[in-house]
Formats: sequence, C-alpha cells, structure tokens
Amino acid sequence: MKADLHLHTTASDGILSPQEMVQKASQLGLDVIAITDHDSVNGIPSALETAKSFPQLLVIPGVEISTDMPQGWVHILGYFVDYRDSEFNHALEELRNSRYERGLKIVARLADLGIDIDWERVLALASGGTIGRPHIAQAMLERGYIASLQEAFTKYIGNEGIAHVERKKLTPTEAVELIIKANGLPFIAHPADIKYLDSFAHQLKQIGLAGIEIYYPHYSPSKIARLKALAKKYDLITSGGSDYHGLDNTIGADIGSADLPQEAIEQLISLAEQRRMVNT
Ligand SMILES: [Zn+2]
Ligand SMILES: [Zn+2]
Repeated sequence: MKADLHLHTTASDGILSPQEMVQKASQLGLDVIAITDHDSVNGIPSALETAKSFPQLLVIPGVEISTDMPQGWVHILGYFVDYRDSEFNHALEELRNSRYERGLKIVARLADLGIDIDWERVLALASGGTIGRPHIAQAMLERGYIASLQEAFTKYIGNEGIAHVERKKLTPTEAVELIIKANGLPFIAHPADIKYLDSFAHQLKQIGLAGIEIYYPHYSPSKIARLKALAKKYDLITSGGSDYHGLDNTIGADIGSADLPQEAIEQLISLAEQRRMVNT
C-alpha cells in the first residue's frame, strides 16, 4: 500500500488543483492520499468528487494549520476532518483573512526595500486559494529579485527575514482542539526541529493529539527512528507525506516520495474508524 498524507493544492499554495492532484495520485499508483491545505478545506469537495472516478484511491479530507508558540512556529495536521462543519470553516476563514492582511503588509514592506511586486500578481498566483508567503516568493522570483523560492524566505519574508511580518495565529493547543471539534485526528507536522518536542508532544497528547508526522522529505533514518521512539513513548501513531507543493524543490518533495510503511497507514485508518463508531 502506498500513501502520501501531506499534499498541497491550489486551495492553498500548491500548483495542482484538487482534481489534478487526485488524478495524478491515481496515475502514480497511490492507494491513500490526504489533501492538507494551509488553513483551508476548500479543495476537499472537488477532490472527493473526482475520487469517485478512482475507487481504488482513498482520499482523506485534511488540513494543515499554522500555529505559534514561544519556541517558534509549529504546523498541526488534521486528518479525516469534517470539512462541512460550519464552525470549523469559520475559524479557518479567520486564519485566511489574517494571511491576506499579512500579505499586503509584506508587499508594502518589500516596496520600502525597493522590491517592487504587484499585489494583483500575488492574488493571481494564489488563484483564489489561501494566500501564502510562497505566492509572494513566486512573484519575487518572476521579477528576478531572487534566484530560488528558498532565498525569498531566508533573506526577506521568512521569520528571520528583513521583510517578515507577524500575523494572528492559533496556539498549537487551540489548533488541536479545533481539529478535534471537527472530528479530525490531529498530528504534529514535520516535528524534527521543534524545541522541547518531548514535553510538547506529551502535553498535546493529553488534550487529544493522535500522532506525529515522521516520514518526511530529507528526514534521515536516524531522525525517523528517534521520532518513532517518541511516538511510542506517548502512544501516538505516525504519519508521513511529501509536503508536495509543486513549486520548486526547495519546498516539499515529489508526490508519493515519502516512504510510509503500511502499518502506519493502517493504524491511521483504523483509528479513524474507531472514532467514527464512537461518534455515531
Ligand atoms: Zn508545514
Ligand atoms: Zn505542508
């Protein structure tokens, strides 16, 4: 069984539409995928609709929520979320609004630095989806201000960059609670660089964290083994995915490239089934 449980579409900052993503995953012979757009589930309905033509492929409705804590930023993935829940959608919409406001401020700050990019172009690159900093980076790349998307983050718009702007974010606890309220299974995304991960995972487990993402691009076998031991310690399950965006190779990797063991996929699906039985 092959799976990729971390994929971005045009509903946030990926380049494939949800339909194209489902078609591509099926062509690649994947059995399970999760669509996990930043602060958005707007791609889910069309992904599920398209998936009806590919009965061998399971599409998990997911989300990736950006959060902040004193030690830095953390992303929380939610699997099997109720993407139709109106309260959940409302909360995600507020997060997207704060991204929009931040995007405007970044573009203004870049202009002060002599980097002239067009807000209309950023909006066009976002094509109606969640506005992310990669869209701004793409606009900078098109104008030749930078040589790679990563450079935009390191020098300008990343958290240490000279045009960095903060925005309103949830805390990790709030994101976990939000996902649980929408009947989803919360996971810590790409956790390897999180400071004090051990106590952090323990703390979130107590409010319902389901697992951690450990099969992630460029994670070494020893890193994966360390994270796996941590998951075991706190009775968390594991997931993994490519974090595919389709932009350039400095953000994420190719679809299906995360080597996720069958056991991890089965545990996730069976946990979702147990949860469903409890809730009905
Ligand atoms: Zn992420
Ligand atoms: Zn991601």
